[in-house]
Amino acid sequence: MGSHSFKYHASVKLADSLYCYVWQGRGNNCNSCLFTDVLRGQRRHVLIDPGHVSNEVGESCFNYLASAIENDGFKVDDIGLIINTHSHPDHCEANEIVVERSGAWIIMSEEEENFRNTLGRTFSSMFSVKIPEFTPLFYLKEGDFTLGAGNGKLNLQVFIVPGHSPGSICLYWAEQKILITGDVVFYGSIGRTDFPSGSLSQLKQGIDRLSKLDVEYLVPGHSTELGSIIRGKQNVERNFQRVKLII
Ligand SMILES: [Zn+2]
Repeated sequence: MGSHSFKYHASVKLADSLYCYVWQGRGNNCNSCLFTDVLRGQRRHVLIDPGHVSNEVGESCFNYLASAIENDGFKVDDIGLIINTHSHPDHCEANEIVVERSGAWIIMSEEEENFRNTLGRTFSSMFSVKIPEFTPLFYLKEGDFTLGAGNGKLNLQVFIVPGHSPGSICLYWAEQKILITGDVVFYGSIGRTDFPSGSLSQLKQGIDRLSKLDVEYLVPGHSTELGSIIRGKQNVERNFQRVKLII
């Protein structure tokens, strides 16, 4: 497993075709993940959560992400698909830049798209963030979701876990025991539920479901003071037990 660190993103290669970019700037931004060479055609990469263009302290988050991706030998221009775990601006503000550069398609859950087009607009303007404009190609549904085709294909499972945002998704890659959680669960903590359409009881139910999965690597949408990626089945289980105590 390779890993190297810039000032703004630590790149962690969790599997042959999965790189995680852990945000470590001063201000807010999400972690991003890149599935490499999985799609057919010229634009073969899939980016989970492009994050902010720039954040509240003026860090050029997306430029830094693009540099970290290039340093690993990949190009933003070769991204064919963006998956948003949810529609908060710190996860999807940079969608537009990726689309401009690569023509990538965007997908998220239908529940999240409905939220984004209603209360989500108020939410973004509350933070005076420009509302990212895009139309999803199709909607992710709960259940199996295959990326790519042939030998390179990846079998993922989609979990729709409302509570932090109404259509938040988590992605589980059973073969590698990797769970990408977005803002549902973090190292020692959970996503905020005091945002519009947040619900602590829904989040709790979702976390119960996730805690039954066989997970070696839990990749959260943000780091906490305790850490970012949780490694090892025991540590992941301990983390679920710990967060269940606070919900
Ligand atoms: Zn969020």
